[in-house]
Amino acid sequence: MEKVFHFDSPPEPYVADAAVLCCFDQRIRLAVYKFLQKRGILRPDMIVVAGGAKTLASPRNDFERDFILEQVRMSILLHKTERVFLMSHSDCATYGGLAAFGGDPDKEARHHKQELGRAAELIRGKFPEVQVACFFITFQGVFATGENSIEQVA
Ligand SMILES: [Zn+2]
Repeated sequence: MEKVFHFDSPPEPYVADAAVLCCFDQRIRLAVYKFLQKRGILRPDMIVVAGGAKTLASPRNDFERDFILEQVRMSILLHKTERVFLMSHSDCATYGGLAAFGGDPDKEARHHKQELGRAAELIRGKFPEVQVACFFITFQGVFATGENSIEQVA
């Protein structure tokens, strides 16, 4: 193979600070990254898929949900992950955007809180050994759903 880019990456094995399930929407990527850093999550196993936690709360099919559960299981197995962060975000296209909630951010936030709660229930049921925390990302910041088993780390 031909080397086309040079970059030194740390080769040491690691313990993941958290498995993080979030949407692939580019608009929230930096907020998620900054938030994780602020929380001391420097080595996350990122599970980045359309809809984020929706894949557990309201999956399009069993395959989607099972695939994501398997990713979480692999993070726990391979990187000794003890925490799972579940995320969804405002104006997510997989929910039909903010428009699906009549343009009402409060209505949207209430719906996502329920969704995140359902996703957390599923993770807790499948992996009782891990802590679960849920976050809703908006264009103004990151909101905890208030039912997290993880308190402020930083
Ligand atoms: Zn999205």
